[in-house]
Amino acid sequence: MKKIITIGEIVVEIMAVEPGHGFTSAIPLIGPFASGAPAIFIDQVAKLGQPCGIVSAVGNDDFGVLNVERLRRDGADVSAIGIHPTAATGSAFVRYRPDGNRDFIYNIRHSACSAIGLTPEAEALIDGADHLHIMGSALFFDGIVSAIFAATRRIKAKGGTVSFDPNIRKEMLDLPGMREALAHALENTDLFMPSGPEMFLFTKAIDEPAAIAELLERGIKAVVIKRGADGASYFDRNGEMSAPAFKVEEVDPTGAGDSFGAAFVTCWLRGMAPGKALTVANATGARAVSVKGPMEGTSTMAEIETFLTSQGVAA
Ligand code: ATP
Ligand code: MG
Repeated sequence: MKKIITIGEIVVEIMAVEPGHGFTSAIPLIGPFASGAPAIFIDQVAKLGQPCGIVSAVGNDDFGVLNVERLRRDGADVSAIGIHPTAATGSAFVRYRPDGNRDFIYNIRHSACSAIGLTPEAEALIDGADHLHIMGSALFFDGIVSAIFAATRRIKAKGGTVSFDPNIRKEMLDLPGMREALAHALENTDLFMPSGPEMFLFTKAIDEPAAIAELLERGIKAVVIKRGADGASYFDRNGEMSAPAFKVEEVDPTGAGDSFGAAFVTCWLRGMAPGKALTVANATGARAVSVKGPMEGTSTMAEIETFLTSQGVAA
C-alpha cells in the first residue's frame, strides 16, 4: 500500500461552549481537542488503514502528548513529530458567532510549530513516502515551506504523487512567501482539492467550467471541488461527476474538508473509481460534521460502511 505523508501544524483546539462574539470575558470552554488541519487529515488517513505519517512538532507538554498519542493510537507514523524543548504546543481558541462564522485566537507561529522543518526524522519519513498531501494553510512558515518543497521534489522524482488542498483564508494570502508557495504547490499537483471559490485564487478564468479547463490544461490530473452541504464534484480530462452530500445535522463543520480530503486521496491511491471515491469522501465529511471537535469525527472504513448502509447506499 502507498504511504501518504503531510507536513504542517499540530495544535490543540479549545472551543467556547456557547455561540457569541470572541473571548473578551470569562466563558465556559471545552477542550483541549487534538487538531491542526494536516493532523486531522493524517488521522483520517490512518483510520482508513493506509500507511501514513506527519512531519510536525509539539511542545514538551500535555497538549503535545494528547496529539501524539492520538495519532499513534490511530495508526499514523509519529516518528517525524519533533518535541520542542521550550516552546508550548500550538493552540487555537474558537468561538462560533450566532451567524455561524467563527472567531479564532491562534498561537501557532511562535509555538512548538516553529521547529517544523527538514529534520533527519523528516527526511527519513519523506524517503519512505509515495504521496505528499500539501495543506495550503500550513505554508505560513519558512521551515514548513522548505520541507514541503524538498518533499515535493523527492517524492515526484521517484514517481510519487502530490495532492493539494488550498484550505486558505484570504487574510493568509498576504503573508510573506505565501503566494509563491501556493503557486509551487499547484505546479506540482496531481490531485487538486479546493473548496468552491478557492479555485479562482489560481485561475484567470472566473467561471467554474473555464477554471477547471484551465487547471487541467496546466497538467493537473484531477480536480475535486468540495461544496459543503451540497456535496462534491470530480473533474478530469475524461469528464466530470458530482455526488450530493448526505443529510446530517451539522454540529461542528471544523475538519470536514480535511477528513473528506483524506478519504478521497486514500481511495484515489487505492485505484477506486472516482464516483465511488466521492461517495466514501462525502460520507467521511458528513460523519465529521456530525461530531463536536475537529478530529473527533474521523472514521474507520467499517464506520463509513455502516453509515452508507444506514443511508441506503450499497457500501
Ligand atoms: P473546512 O472548513 O474544513 O476547510 P472545506 O471548505 O474544506 O471545510 P467543505 O466543503 O465544507 O470543506 O466540507 C467537505 C465535505 O464534507 C463536503 O464536500 C461534504 O461531503 C461534507 N460536508 C460538509 N458539510 C456538510 C453538511 N452540512 N452536511 C453533510 N455533509 C457535509
Ligand atoms: Mg478546507
